[in-house]
Amino acid sequence: MKRVLIKDVFKSQPVGDQVKVAGWIRSVRNSKGFSFVVINDGSCQGTFQIIANEDMENYQDVTSLLVGACVEFVGEIVQSQGKGQSIEMQASSVVIHGRTDESYPLQKKATSLEFLREQAHLRPRTNLFGAVFRVRHHMAMATHQFFSDRGFYYLNSPILTAVDAEGAGEMFNVTTMDLANIPKSKEGKVDFSKDYFGKPANLCVTGQLEGECFAMGMGAVYTFGPTFRAENSNTPRHLSEFWMIEPEVAFLDLEGNAELAADYVKYLISYAFEKAPEELESLQKYHQFAAKGAKEPYENHLEVLQKVINSEFERITYTKAIEILQKSGKKFDFAPEWGVELQTEHERYLAEDYFKGPVTVTDYPRDCKAFYMKQNDDGKTVRAMDVLVPGVGEIIGGSQREEDHGRLITRMEEMNMEQAPLWWYLDLRNFGTAPHSGFGLGFERALRYVTGMKNIRDVIPFPRTPKNCDF
Ligand code: ATP
Ligand code: MN
Repeated sequence: MKRVLIKDVFKSQPVGDQVKVAGWIRSVRNSKGFSFVVINDGSCQGTFQIIANEDMENYQDVTSLLVGACVEFVGEIVQSQGKGQSIEMQASSVVIHGRTDESYPLQKKATSLEFLREQAHLRPRTNLFGAVFRVRHHMAMATHQFFSDRGFYYLNSPILTAVDAEGAGEMFNVTTMDLANIPKSKEGKVDFSKDYFGKPANLCVTGQLEGECFAMGMGAVYTFGPTFRAENSNTPRHLSEFWMIEPEVAFLDLEGNAELAADYVKYLISYAFEKAPEELESLQKYHQFAAKGAKEPYENHLEVLQKVINSEFERITYTKAIEILQKSGKKFDFAPEWGVELQTEHERYLAEDYFKGPVTVTDYPRDCKAFYMKQNDDGKTVRAMDVLVPGVGEIIGGSQREEDHGRLITRMEEMNMEQAPLWWYLDLRNFGTAPHSGFGLGFERALRYVTGMKNIRDVIPFPRTPKNCDF
């Protein structure tokens, strides 16, 4: 007999049929003459109740089962007598794939998220993480659907690169050199000509520059891949390895770029509501429970998200944002000041308290931003845009790109950047240049926003952060 997914059993409600299901035990209760076994198989949020009677073969095996064990049951689907489920199974036989004992870490009692991070190999079996990672799956599917429907091509930009695109120096080096015996030049410098690529190489911090090459030929592309940043940021919004979606589009200005970003974020939310309503409900319940006794009143997360789908994103300039922050009367850890990057506390104030929803901030001071952003005529600001959302802060960073060769060169000179390694990037401006724009959405940041999870480590399967690369 073929195994049926629990989600399909709930969907088709095959009352009277013999069915085989398999999964991991969430709870087990033995009464006189029968047992209730509740399992989940990861196919949906719901758990499935199985009733095993003592006249069943192997009944003794069933009564000795513990939480976490992996079991397979065959039986008849019947209308449920009890509350909480419409149907259940009257078991006729069981196969026990894997038992557990009392040391199984995920017992019924509530466990903290910190503890579950230490049990990252088991947390996919919890209600909470099942919800988070099913939402993650659907938001990945939403991403491909959204861009593909709009004529974008999916681009696999390289993960190994010799270019420091952001100029931030927060890259992981990649080498095959013997670290105990590094080849050195006469001057005592590392001799990278002896290294695998014959020059220093890194893990990518972005796929944007390669994305630009393809936009300048295929029109519109998007990347969706892993990104690595060796920044020493131990915060609830930074990972050393995270996933980023980076659309890059020819003939698009900042205005169109901001529209694209807003449409994409709204699409992600509406897709999650469509494909994972039970997961979102379950997450909401979790947050409401976790917020019990909290000082601040808990907002209805789903209602707030739902509103975003049909709303316009607010749009302000960086200069205006600084004005709002300075006039707010709020005591920030870092006083807002024109010319300095917005801090998370500033971003969250704008999105959470002031606009009470997503806001797109444009035209940042050029000294805060990367060399490739298109310069405004004021000589001070660039055509940058960040999308800020409540609860998280920045989830998107993007810009219109500088398409003028001369201005790009001047900017690189001002920033003391080496031009030689970027000859191909500069070539794009020499041969058939075009106005173009793009952005990067941090997938885990977007997931934090939609799932309401407070720590980015809880929306990626196995988080990598400074001093932590377990599992
Ligand atoms: P922040 O200022 O919040 O550290 P950033 O300005 O360095 O972010 P960008 O270079 O603009 O980030 O990257 C684009 C997007 O990638 C960001 O908007 C964010 O969503 C995501 N992102 C950046 N760094 C990280 C990180 N370390 N972990 C997870 N997501 C990140
Ligand atoms: Mn940014």
